[in-house]
Amino acid sequence: MEDILKIEMGCKPENEGLARIAIATFMVRLNPTLEEINDVKTAVSEAVTNAIVHGYEDKEGIIYLKAMIEENKIEISVKDEGVGISNVKQAREPLYTTKPEEERSGMGFTFMEIFMDEVHIDSKVGKGTEIRMIKKIVGGDK
Ligand code: ATP
Ligand code: MG
Repeated sequence: MEDILKIEMGCKPENEGLARIAIATFMVRLNPTLEEINDVKTAVSEAVTNAIVHGYEDKEGIIYLKAMIEENKIEISVKDEGVGISNVKQAREPLYTTKPEEERSGMGFTFMEIFMDEVHIDSKVGKGTEIRMIKKIVGGDK
């Protein structure tokens, strides 16, 4: 049976906390270390925050959160149907932000890349963005 979690959330900043807790609870079955849980939570909250502030520009919209566990790997997808990213290569660069006036530091994608093993960005202008992230969970004593 597929080990899968799917959540559809409204575009509310409060839901970022919900996403973090849901993912943390979901991944406990992999017997992760506290550090691994925190890495995944951080990556998820960066992706969800991006969907809210950039994808939907703090307006209405649904954020689709999906997680799958296969063997000792967790794969997470955070998807929005917002404005999309015109230059993905540039968006991934450390310190690049299109919202410097809102005290954004342009480090969201950099954190996702540091804390996860793989980060894939699939985006179309006017259609939306999907961030797919994978991490192998080594875990504590097994
Ligand atoms: P920080 O995450 O440090 O608060 P930031 O969000 O600007 O700042 P990143 O998360 O690295 O930095 O994202 C870089 C840029 O990519 C953003 O400034 C934005 O232009 C674009 N971006 C990221 N996610 C999305 C998204 N879901 N939809 C549209 N644009 C996005
Ligand atoms: Mg960000």
